Amino acid sequence: MAITTDMKLYYYLSRYQFMNSTSLYDNHGRPINYLRLAVTDRCNLRCFYCMPEEGIKYLPKKELLTFEEIERLIAIVASLGISKIRLTGGEPFVRTDLMALIKKIKQVDGIEELHLTTNGILTAPYIPELKSLGIGSINLSLDTLDRDRFFKITRRDEFVSTWKTFELLMKHGIPVKINAVVMEGKNIEDLIPMVELTRNYPISVRFIEEMPFNGEGNHYPVLTWTYKKIVAHLEEHFGKLVRMSDPNNSTAYHYQVPGYVGNIGVIAAFSRTFCGTCNRIRVTAQGVLKTCLYDDGVLNIKTLFRAGASDDEVIRELMNAFSHRAKDGFEAEAKRTLHPAIESMSTIGG
Ligand code: SAM
Ligand code: SF4
Repeated sequence: MAITTDMKLYYYLSRYQFMNSTSLYDNHGRPINYLRLAVTDRCNLRCFYCMPEEGIKYLPKKELLTFEEIERLIAIVASLGISKIRLTGGEPFVRTDLMALIKKIKQVDGIEELHLTTNGILTAPYIPELKSLGIGSINLSLDTLDRDRFFKITRRDEFVSTWKTFELLMKHGIPVKINAVVMEGKNIEDLIPMVELTRNYPISVRFIEEMPFNGEGNHYPVLTWTYKKIVAHLEEHFGKLVRMSDPNNSTAYHYQVPGYVGNIGVIAAFSRTFCGTCNRIRVTAQGVLKTCLYDDGVLNIKTLFRAGASDDEVIRELMNAFSHRAKDGFEAEAKRTLHPAIESMSTIGG
């Protein structure tokens, strides 16, 4: 008897319903428990690797998921077993009333962890409240410790604001990961000083391979700084790094300079070595589900919501998408309808 799509879907649904009510698996047996949700595509920086200098064509406001739609979506995915949310963007803090949304998400049953990724420019005033709301951690994007290089990379003179946010996060004891995209000719001289931050700060400094999602495609990266080259560069300076064990489903390889309190993460985002354990899905600012960073969207949740779909209908569509997930970023990229993969990371939600 031929196995139909509906039978496969039934298999995944029943696995969810009967085997373990808090687990959701894709068609490759990988658990899915982490949603990264972009709350906006707008941003107050113009990072070279993310957007063209003139910015991108922003979505009209009515095309963004409303807070009510975001809450509904989070309640639905939480009922399926997703327990970890990261709000990202664009820059999350340019969305009006972000803190109101954060408070609502914190109250959704089943959401155990809420994290944020931010460039830190508008973040500082909200840090005490974020702390009291129990934010899990903050990923702070900072590619350089030098004000001039910051300006060249982000095209805005905002280093001081981001650094102030970093200091306040430390003061309030909020767990921090610094995200730095490694770029030939832009910030290589920063790699060692950034690792030096881990000498006394209990943070993770994560070096990310540059991906093609820069919104223009005219500097589609020929990847010079692979994760292997990044590690070799650091070891040339620090000597042998300690290879740490990586947390479950981590996308980073973790290292530590012996005796330092913090650690280093190296993320092979372009080499895509982590797909075998990928536990995350993304929803873009316009409400499109991506089951892989490299796909071009597999389900428009906003359209479903606005067409009046019931929660059960939305769940059925989600489960169908989870049961057709690409096995890795290469397969997802090959299946894209839009080529090449040059959309801005701010529309994807990095
Ligand atoms: N605006 C916030 C920020 O910068 O932290 C959140 C959104 S941003 C798109 C999320 C992350 O994506 C940032 O850490 C950024 O460095 C990373 N990113 C953006 N474009 C990238 C690219 N082309 N390659 C690798 N990482 C990228
Ligand atoms: Fe904005 Fe973040 Fe993209 Fe930089 S990486 S332009 S801060 S969305």
